Amino acid sequence: MSQTAFSTLNLHSDLLKNISSLGYESMTPIQAQSLPHILAGKDVIAQGKTGSGKTAAFGLGLLEKLNVKRFRVQSLVLCPTRELADQVAKEIRRLARTIHNIKVLTLCGGMPFGPQIGSLEHGAHIIVGTPGRIEEHVRKGTLNLDDLEMLILDEADRMLEMGFQDALDAIIDAAPKQRQTLLFSATYPDQIKSIADRIMFKPVMAKVESTH
Ligand code: ADP
Ligand code: MG
Repeated sequence: MSQTAFSTLNLHSDLLKNISSLGYESMTPIQAQSLPHILAGKDVIAQGKTGSGKTAAFGLGLLEKLNVKRFRVQSLVLCPTRELADQVAKEIRRLARTIHNIKVLTLCGGMPFGPQIGSLEHGAHIIVGTPGRIEEHVRKGTLNLDDLEMLILDEADRMLEMGFQDALDAIIDAAPKQRQTLLFSATYPDQIKSIADRIMFKPVMAKVESTH
C-alpha cells in the first residue's frame, strides 16, 4: 500500500509537529483521499469502515481552517451518540494540543441543559454534539450558527437510522448557506445520497473499500 506523509499537505507547522508527536507516521487511505480536498475547501463525502481514521480527516481539516482569534462557533460536528461525540471531541483536543486557547465544547442529550447554556455563553470555536440537543439549542436561541464555516456529519448513516433526520434538517436550515459540508459514513444508502444532494455543493467522493 502506498504511504503518503502528512508533510505533503499544506498544514500549519504546529499541526504537523503535533501529528508526528502523536505517532501518526503517514495518512491512512481515507485521510489521503479526503484531506487534500477538505483543505482545498471542497464539500467531501467520505466512506470508510470503522477505525479507518475518519476523525482525524475532518479534525485536521477543521483545525487548519479555524481562526482561534475569532471566538465564534466556526465548526459543528454532529455525531449519533454521546459516546461518539465524546470520542470525537477528545481526538480533536489531542490534534489541537499545540494550538493555544482553543475551545471545544460538547453538547449532547441526556445531559442537563443549564450548564450547557452557561458554557455556550462563555463561547466556543468548535461544537461536537448529538443532533437532538443541538437542534434544541438552535431552536431556543442558545446556540447561534451565523458564523459557522464548516458542518460535519459523522456517522451519517447511523444518525439517520436513529431517527435524527428532522433534527438534522432543522440544524442545516439554521446554518449559513455559504459553508463547507463534510459527510462521513460507513455505508452510503439512498437516504444518505438524498441528504447529500440537498445539503452539499458538488461533493468530492472519497471511498476506501474494506480489504478482506
Ligand atoms: P473511524 O472514525 O474511521 O472509525 P477513528 O477516527 O476513530 O476511525 O480512528 C481510529 C484510530 O486510528 C484512532 O485511535 C486514531 O487515533 C488512529 N489514527 C487516526 N489516524 C491515524 C494515522 N494517520 N496514523 C496512525 N493512527 C491513526
Ligand atoms: Mg468515526
